[in-house]
Amino acid sequence: MTKDHKRFETSAVHGGYDPADMLGSLAAPLFQTSTFTFETAEQGERRFAGEEDGYMYSRLGNPTVSVLEEKMAALEKGERGLAFASGMAAVSAILVALTKANDHILCSSGLYGCTFGLLRMMKEKYNIDHDFSVMETKDEVRALIRPETACIYVETPINPTMKLIDLQMVAEVAHEHDIPVVVDNTFASPYLQRPLELGCDVVIHSATKYIGGHGDVIAGVAVGKKDFLDGVQMTTLKDMGGIISPLDAWLLIRGLKTLPIRVDRHCDNAEKIFTKLNSHPNVSRVHYPDDANHPDHHIREKQMKRGGGLISFEIKGTKKDAQKMLNNLGFIKMAVSLGDAETLIQHPATMTHAVVPEASRLEMGITDQLIRLSVGLEEWDDIWSDLEQALDRI
Ligand code: PLP
Repeated sequence: MTKDHKRFETSAVHGGYDPADMLGSLAAPLFQTSTFTFETAEQGERRFAGEEDGYMYSRLGNPTVSVLEEKMAALEKGERGLAFASGMAAVSAILVALTKANDHILCSSGLYGCTFGLLRMMKEKYNIDHDFSVMETKDEVRALIRPETACIYVETPINPTMKLIDLQMVAEVAHEHDIPVVVDNTFASPYLQRPLELGCDVVIHSATKYIGGHGDVIAGVAVGKKDFLDGVQMTTLKDMGGIISPLDAWLLIRGLKTLPIRVDRHCDNAEKIFTKLNSHPNVSRVHYPDDANHPDHHIREKQMKRGGGLISFEIKGTKKDAQKMLNNLGFIKMAVSLGDAETLIQHPATMTHAVVPEASRLEMGITDQLIRLSVGLEEWDDIWSDLEQALDRI
């Protein structure tokens, strides 16, 4: 039995786990086992029939994974969590669970490249169509809802353009039509934004990012209603098999304990780097949700605690100049992840969003000059010195 820890910081440390359940072990134990033994044949029968609680086989559930799932449910304020092998395993399991052939998905205009690739595959193989909407007004959302719309899928902040979508507004329109809203909350983390509290139905994370926070795990998590996620667990997750390993779940449990302090530090650093980038002569535009001039700043104030650790910016020059700037960097690492202790930088047009056709990419605002920066936990003026010398030498 876990206690209901009301404050986020306390849930991050204690949520999902009570040492009394595990011989007093302060840290949640790692159950690195593929299967679980039954005391009798009848017990095995009862467990498989769902008549008795207990573990059977780690693809169907594992105690270490359960701790992670409960902790994530506590942090996202949802009924239950469900962990996956990767963020994309979570995205694909949830979208497959919510759709059938010939359905339609309405998406925010701007999505992670592989989510875009998945939607294209669903269209080609199962005629599950999709539309993109900027979702700035209720009417824009309403206009694209069809009788066969199975869900609305939103990313906010959008990767990598940092545009924001008003989640409460989208949820209100969706519920007029009885359509669930799925939100990819990877960029914000539950510390900064909790879509379920804003009326959305399912939250997805690439737990690879802020949830883990140390660049050593690839994983995904979904949080939402118990009935729905119980169903996903026993259908798409069990049968397609994209389960998380117990060791990865254990690392995420450890990472989550420091989520609030890490994310605050990411935000502190990002706010300072944003100001510096904004006044650099070789930078033409900076996209950061906490910029008072950001077109969606009012949405940041409404639904996000702070602006987050990600900034994207456009350099003055060509694609070659953008690549030169990246090649000029010193300790800042060129890599396509985010939310790690290390500051990471990448070129979306040729890296994370390379699979998106050029016309759609440009429509999303991903130009050849755009660079995405995941501000790390280092001393902020070391980060700035490295960026500045690279920008100076374009
Ligand atoms: N969603 C977003 C916003 C992402 O940035 C990513 C990965 O970068 C994913 C989903 C996919 O997550 P994973 O790489 O853990 O499969």
